[in-house]
Amino acid sequence: MNLVFASNNPHKLKEVKSIVGDDYSISGLQDVGFEEDIKETADSLEGNAQIKADFVFQNVNQPCFADDTGLEVFALDMRPGVMSARYAGDNKSSWDNVKKLLHEMQTITNRKARFRTVICLILQGKHYFFEGIVEGEIATTPAGHKGFGYDPVFIPDGYQCTFADMNDAEKNQISHRARAINKMAGFLNKMKF
Ligand code: IMP
Repeated sequence: MNLVFASNNPHKLKEVKSIVGDDYSISGLQDVGFEEDIKETADSLEGNAQIKADFVFQNVNQPCFADDTGLEVFALDMRPGVMSARYAGDNKSSWDNVKKLLHEMQTITNRKARFRTVICLILQGKHYFFEGIVEGEIATTPAGHKGFGYDPVFIPDGYQCTFADMNDAEKNQISHRARAINKMAGFLNKMKF
């Protein structure tokens, strides 16, 4: 079965393809003719995942899924959360977001945080939701050159290095998105879709 993934982010597409493996083929948004980013206007990860999945389903009418991820920092009342992509403002870079986060946490000792991904899958016109969480903490200085987004400042529990120090295979074993995608893949297999 082919599933359309509502993303133009090449890092995410690569991650998702390697997690799902050969059981399902995955197309990105560009593969089905969409270049533009879908506006994320909801106030929750669930809401944004559904907006993106609904957009694709309405336009392409194929089985599809979308994800939305937030970095939730406990000492910041779970911010940046749903605002993670635009934390430093519209049209700012991931690096600007990281700098803002580190600045806000300069004097904070409780550095506990988690990445949370919510996937919305649309299959035969029905919506299904899957959540993946990885717990960790925010580093005091960025480290590592792999990955994307907040990876250089996120140290997963049980590790001494950041996500940006890990290669794809290592990150995919424990990441929030991998956990959500594995749940979705398990559901698809169980339901024999
Ligand atoms: P999105 O919902 O996946 O587009 O991600 C929202 C924000 O979280 C963006 O700023 C991403 O760069 C960041 N983000 C999402 N997934 C990850 C990840 O695996 N590592 C680091 N940052 C991420």
